[in-house]
Amino acid sequence: MILLKNKEQIDGMRKAGALLYEVLQTLKEEIRPGMSTEDLNQRADELIRRGNAIPSFLNYEGFPASLCTSVNDVIVHGVPSKDDVLREGDIISLDCGLILDGWQADSALTAPVGKISEKAQRLIDVTEACFFAGAFQARVGNTLGDIGYAVQSLAAREGYGVVRDLSGHGIGRDMHEDPYVYNFGIPGVGFAIRKGMTIAIEPMITEGDWHVDSEEDGTFVKTVDGLLASHYEHTLAITSGDAPELLTLPGFRWKDRGYEEAAK
Ligand code: MG
Ligand code: MG
Repeated sequence: MILLKNKEQIDGMRKAGALLYEVLQTLKEEIRPGMSTEDLNQRADELIRRGNAIPSFLNYEGFPASLCTSVNDVIVHGVPSKDDVLREGDIISLDCGLILDGWQADSALTAPVGKISEKAQRLIDVTEACFFAGAFQARVGNTLGDIGYAVQSLAAREGYGVVRDLSGHGIGRDMHEDPYVYNFGIPGVGFAIRKGMTIAIEPMITEGDWHVDSEEDGTFVKTVDGLLASHYEHTLAITSGDAPELLTLPGFRWKDRGYEEAAK
């Protein structure tokens, strides 16, 4: 069942989203070669609690940390460790979630560690572009298939793979609500997008093969060929017939991203 949200409920989610944006931006700026993924996790936990929020990942289905740290060929669900030390040239995906006044926010980004190759930067840039292409379709009159198709077709055009085994999702009081929001699809097919839907769109894009492998417990989902992967996610709200509001990217305007048919 898809739970639609009213204006007051979306106001609550907007506050959670703004805090999560601050947390992720701070973490991104503090990434340095030589620090461990556990250092980043501790910092995430501290920043979330300082904002009077609760880290939603901690103990979720047994996950032992407040942040997912996925390095290089790890796509998602990397578990932070003090032994996992970042090196110059790595890329790291930070996926974080929090609960503020009962409302969830979920967002992820992939960041460079020091100086990275042009090849790695291009993967990060295209993954972000896939998100915006998909999110731009998240509006009344379209379907979830339009979102998935936009993500998938841009990734394919750039020669990249789209992970099929994991998807975006509805979000609200719970981190994972209906519906699944796939990163592939057929235009016009799937659930009709309605006003009041709040969803997380999260393309997971691979340099090579899109098939994945993981630990038994679902952690450390990685590419089967060892090539790089990138992840980018925002929580968004469909509030009108225009392109959606990105709750975890405060102040964002579609036209700044080159979408001239801007959201009002
Ligand atoms: Mg996430
Ligand atoms: Mg998510």
